[in-house]
Amino acid sequence: MCYAIPGRVIELNGKFAVVDYFGEHRNVFNEFEGLKVGDYVYAQGGIIVQKISEDDALIILKEWKQLFFELKEVDSAISVMDENTFDKILSNAEQGLENEEALRLLKLSNKNEMDLLFKTANKLRQKRLKNSCCIHGIIEFSNYCRNNCFYCGIRCENKQLQRYRMTVEEIVVLADYSVNKLGFKALVLQSGEDMWYTTEKLVEIIKRIKEKCGVLLFMSVGTRSFECYTAMHEAGARGVLLRFETSNPKLYEKIHFGPKSDFKYRIALLKHIKKLGYIIATGALIGLPGQTETDLLNDILLAKSLEADMYSFGPFIPHPKTPFSGAEIVDINIVLKVLSVARLLNPDAKLLVTTALETLDVDGRRLGLLSGANSLMINITPLEYKNLYEIYPNRAGSDVETAVKNTLNLLYSLGRAPTDLGL
Ligand code: SAH
Repeated sequence: MCYAIPGRVIELNGKFAVVDYFGEHRNVFNEFEGLKVGDYVYAQGGIIVQKISEDDALIILKEWKQLFFELKEVDSAISVMDENTFDKILSNAEQGLENEEALRLLKLSNKNEMDLLFKTANKLRQKRLKNSCCIHGIIEFSNYCRNNCFYCGIRCENKQLQRYRMTVEEIVVLADYSVNKLGFKALVLQSGEDMWYTTEKLVEIIKRIKEKCGVLLFMSVGTRSFECYTAMHEAGARGVLLRFETSNPKLYEKIHFGPKSDFKYRIALLKHIKKLGYIIATGALIGLPGQTETDLLNDILLAKSLEADMYSFGPFIPHPKTPFSGAEIVDINIVLKVLSVARLLNPDAKLLVTTALETLDVDGRRLGLLSGANSLMINITPLEYKNLYEIYPNRAGSDVETAVKNTLNLLYSLGRAPTDLGL
């Protein structure tokens, strides 16, 4: 099984290459010595992660060829819209949407207008990025956390939660299985702020995975030191998932608690990480108590100013064992509006549908993908641990094989293909 389509290198420019997918071209970053024009590769997040033999590539491409063009047709048909209706917004978006207009869109409450917004964002996604969709696997390797954030179920003061920690060996074996048996090309390793995993241990995990797997590795381990992020990059990690949670510093200081965890440090760290050359995935929680539409607009603008490579915006879901247990559950339309406005403000963004959206609404992933998003996560944490990684309650999910099957069915029904989105 395969969650990425291989492409053929058709041009090399120093550290960059152009990869062809059935006639569509993407610019990517290359770290492989001796890469040649004509080689076949897998790219993820705009980085070449694996070379594959021509024989193997041709077999896979043959299987994909017909489906690839069929999927494009399905995507175009779904993305069709009455060109006159939201034409103005669409053309404004392509020239750069004004903040006031974006705020007006975030405040829409009329169902027809919201639907038009979602369709416009989907149309823009289809126009600019075609039907590419990246699929990342996420391994939640520890639910220990030294932080005590008001929104999060694994906060250290939740003494009722049974804690777990996967060993270095367990993580490496699961990553190996996920990449080399299940076919994942991008993995996110996530945990609470668990200092049991020292920089040395994280480096060991990364190095051992990179030795065995052609994979884009994202680390999501919170506010570690600058040195830790430098060391993880040297070891071979190329992505970081670190949300700023909210762009409103006052709101942040009211909800986020932990050592080395203030707003300023988090933003400085994100900038440092970007400078190191990582792909960064960042964003905010949607529906926090006290959050306004202006905050949400500023969240999108902050992600943009941090030059996020991926936008990770998802609903806040109240957890019963937190101070926010009684908070109101956010309306899914607010989440979809944020995704759509993020797409309009950043037409070429990689926009993620989070697993929390799936928990908020069983149809959340499909609706997210139809509102401008083009990237998905599949949870591959072993079932015995998945339920304990209770950042929010009732986490959606099944065994990984079922999750993969459901995800691929969903993507095919929407006409999306796992070609890399490029840089
Ligand atoms: N320690 C890591 C990973 C934290 S968990 C870090 O700080 O980056 C990953 C994400 O889960 C958080 O960034 C937060 O946005 C999200 N999360 C936490 N509690 C949540 C809740 N109740 N509802 C939805 N998402 C939540």
